[in-house]
Amino acid sequence: MNEKQRLEMSQIKHGDAADRKSGQDKPLHEKTTEDFAKYFQTTFQPPNINKARKRYREDIEVHYDFEIPEDMKHIGNGKKFLIQTYGCQMNEHDTEVMAGILNEMGYQATTETEDADIILLNTCAIRENAENRVFGEIGHLKSLKVEKPDLILGVCGCMSQQETVVNRILKKHQHVDLIFGTHNIHRLPHLIKEGMFSKANVVEVWSKEGDIIENLPKSRKGKIKAWVNIMYGCDKFCTYCIVPMTRGKERSRRPEDIIQEVRHLAAQGYKEVTLLGQNVNAYGKDFEDISYRFGDLMNDLHKIDIPRVRFTTSHPRDFDDHLIEVLAQGGNLLDHIHLPVQSGSNEILRRMNRKYTRESFLELVGKIRAAIPNVTLTTDIIVGFPNETEEQFEETMTLMEEVGFESAYTFIYSPREGTPAAVMKDNITMEVKRERLQRLNDLVNKQSAESMKAYQDKVVKVLVEGESKRDPDVLSGYTEKNKVVNFKGPKSIIGQIVDVKITETRTWSLNGELVQNTVEVN
Ligand code: SAM
Ligand code: SF4
Repeated sequence: MNEKQRLEMSQIKHGDAADRKSGQDKPLHEKTTEDFAKYFQTTFQPPNINKARKRYREDIEVHYDFEIPEDMKHIGNGKKFLIQTYGCQMNEHDTEVMAGILNEMGYQATTETEDADIILLNTCAIRENAENRVFGEIGHLKSLKVEKPDLILGVCGCMSQQETVVNRILKKHQHVDLIFGTHNIHRLPHLIKEGMFSKANVVEVWSKEGDIIENLPKSRKGKIKAWVNIMYGCDKFCTYCIVPMTRGKERSRRPEDIIQEVRHLAAQGYKEVTLLGQNVNAYGKDFEDISYRFGDLMNDLHKIDIPRVRFTTSHPRDFDDHLIEVLAQGGNLLDHIHLPVQSGSNEILRRMNRKYTRESFLELVGKIRAAIPNVTLTTDIIVGFPNETEEQFEETMTLMEEVGFESAYTFIYSPREGTPAAVMKDNITMEVKRERLQRLNDLVNKQSAESMKAYQDKVVKVLVEGESKRDPDVLSGYTEKNKVVNFKGPKSIIGQIVDVKITETRTWSLNGELVQNTVEVN
């Protein structure tokens, strides 16, 4: 689909200045979900496992022709923007893209809400509490909007891809000017123009997600580490997860575009890139003209002169032997793999639609450890999936120990409307779920602290990122295995990879002292 067709498909709605919703046929407070559904009529599709395969066959177009419209190029001169980001690295990186676009329009970043002429909330829909925080913030910003009617307030990101959320904002938070989805980021200049000149509220949410827009400007957060998207979307349809709906189908960027971006970052002096995707190891599955998978990409990035290449997140299902073989080469491919397992129970994994078993997961871990003996493994775990029994939860605990995960992001299952799990019966009380989470977290803490102890008196390579948040006299950075290290040293080494001898180990961090000629920890 080209830009013209996209414009025709756009779901922009205008009101007038006196009553921003008065162009509609009934007062807003009388509207129902059906009235708002038209915004999604041609585009909205609820998540559906059977449709996933169909999505796969749709064409993917890559565009290299992004431009800020001439009349919007200086519209932000002398004005400021603030983007508040919720959720994962993908959202952090989308924020960098939106900041890049706004900078090219003349806007400057601010951290003060009162100074901002544009405020965007880049939202996360993965769990209910993330959504609640955003609604709280939208509420807080109302008084500012009343004080500064020219302020443009926008809600974007994953929440905006949900019909119910858009309905709720339109109905209850009429001070929001823009609502746009994850597939509409490149349309930001047009949306701002709509919001500015028509003084109407603008809704643009596409579910058509086949395209990849290259050459979007980016204002990266720092000069040391950078995010690089390698693919978008997800076709896995885990039954608890909203991502396939909010991010669309799996589609990979062309290898040459990724390699060029990483080369460019290396030339600019960046020391580390993190490749981003919901399942980075599904990379390339959607290419019809070439046979090129994640292992091939890592192999090519291994040859680039950038000290550290990380990736997140990998799905156990697509972790193939070629990838393991390539990662085993080491060098700039770091020996830390984040491999979300979600549960240790086969029955729960089946109901989650994860498409692997405890046994096949352990087999994969065995293969990885055989090829990369010093590998650090970390994971994501959900507790309290509907009807999870005590025995099933115990299986997660034993798997955590058996694999020897050094850390884990742990979550209580949060029902997400539109996902298959949300309609599953659940007999487990929140009290039991909280108690299980506590037990799991105690185990995670114990395993993390144990893994840290191995570093006592060892020397590690640390990419120094800056001053520690707690103490400006202390520098802070990450090891190759992603452990935080705090130590004293001159500010001049910020941005460098230095050797640090570990003098004290804690549960989640290491303290050390800067050394000169040393060997790396194994
Ligand atoms: N694509 C990655 C994968 O499959 O492992 C994960 C991406 S998701 C943004 C990050 C984590 O959020 C998941 O690994 C899962 O543990 C958690 N998560 C997703 N949906 C959830 C839900 N409905 N309730 C609780 N946790 C959830
Ligand atoms: Fe969500 Fe990850 Fe499953 Fe995709 S693979 S549906 S992003 S948990």
